[in-house]
Amino acid sequence: MMNRRTILVGGCAAVAAATVLGSALSRDRIPEVELVEAVQAAMPGRVEVRTLSFGETFGQILEDAGLGTAERLSVLEAFRAEAEPRRLRTNAEVRIHWVDERFHGIAVALDRDRTVRVDCRAGGCSASTVTLTTTVDTVYAAGVIETSLWSAVTGLPELASASVGDRRNFVLSLDKVFQWQIDFSRQILAGDTYRFVFEREKRPDGSMRAGHLLSAEIVNQGKAYHAIWFDPNGDGEGTWYDMDGQSVRRAFLMKPIELSRISSRFGMRHHPILKTWRNHNGVDYAAARGTPVQSTGAGVVVRRNRSDTYGNVIDVRHPNGFLTRYAHLNGFARGIAVGSRVSQGEVIGYVGMTGMSTGYHLHYEMHASGRAVDPLAIEFPPEDPVPADDRARWELESAARLALLFSLPGPEELRSVRADQ
Ligand SMILES: [Zn+2]
Repeated sequence: MMNRRTILVGGCAAVAAATVLGSALSRDRIPEVELVEAVQAAMPGRVEVRTLSFGETFGQILEDAGLGTAERLSVLEAFRAEAEPRRLRTNAEVRIHWVDERFHGIAVALDRDRTVRVDCRAGGCSASTVTLTTTVDTVYAAGVIETSLWSAVTGLPELASASVGDRRNFVLSLDKVFQWQIDFSRQILAGDTYRFVFEREKRPDGSMRAGHLLSAEIVNQGKAYHAIWFDPNGDGEGTWYDMDGQSVRRAFLMKPIELSRISSRFGMRHHPILKTWRNHNGVDYAAARGTPVQSTGAGVVVRRNRSDTYGNVIDVRHPNGFLTRYAHLNGFARGIAVGSRVSQGEVIGYVGMTGMSTGYHLHYEMHASGRAVDPLAIEFPPEDPVPADDRARWELESAARLALLFSLPGPEELRSVRADQ
């Protein structure tokens, strides 16, 4: 019989709260107070910490710990009410608890959020799953870019208390949100400014479980770009819009490789192999061998083969008469064939130097109605704006999110502080 209950425990810090979902299996029901103690308080006795190695079973760990057959079966039976022992992850932490050299219980981490505890006393074992509750906080930051967005955000003194992983997440989120409008690897200039409001869900140990930008601004070469989070369906699958409610998303990504460098642009150039002047029909991105190449737009693969000039090459046909080409690939992504449907940002191949190529790079072409065009010179229209039905809620929510953003120092203020230094 399952006996589920929820207990909220107040701890010393505001975040130290744990939700206990317990199921008592033994006839002796564990008093609530004791169950709470088992989660929060230091346990008396000795705790042996082990990790499940590859191929090792939960039963083997119990046997190695010196438990007898009856005791092992009792632990396993109680454990099975909460989780499947064979599904435990390699490297799962297992804490074995001894009091006066007698086996007292075991705690097994299922993942970063959940732990199964098995308590064994006279009368049998009982198990419960302890789920750590998360708290939500908001991170605010504003600064001037000197060399790159990366160093500007990760080096900001105000963010010193955030973990390296969290700061990395902030930069990647900004890159993700503005990727359709700004190429951070080539467009960012010293003196550009940023500010953002980030909503973060944290575990009790302070690590981030999830999060997204609520609102953000990048002023790039004097032009301000805004992104405001809005969830039209209220299902958590929201996206970002600009101040007019237009989507920040475009039909094509600005670049087929993340964090790459353009090594040759579209137009006339002296060909390094042919030693003649000819038109360069695409844009080259220098990148290490094996770097993932993503389709810049959703479409259908119409070519996947090898040619003397292009080497391994993929063509993707998109709606509205557009086609993109990815050449000199080292190899194709698994499952990519002629006829495959690919989504925007999907990895389709890997950087190589097959065909007529002097070094590892991606040759990227875009064709509009059969003619090669410069992908860097085209401004693509935005995807669907905020739906008309959601306009009223959008006005309210976006105003609140922008107010948070505009409470931070803006470009003039940031640059004047910079000039004083
Ligand atoms: Zn090229």
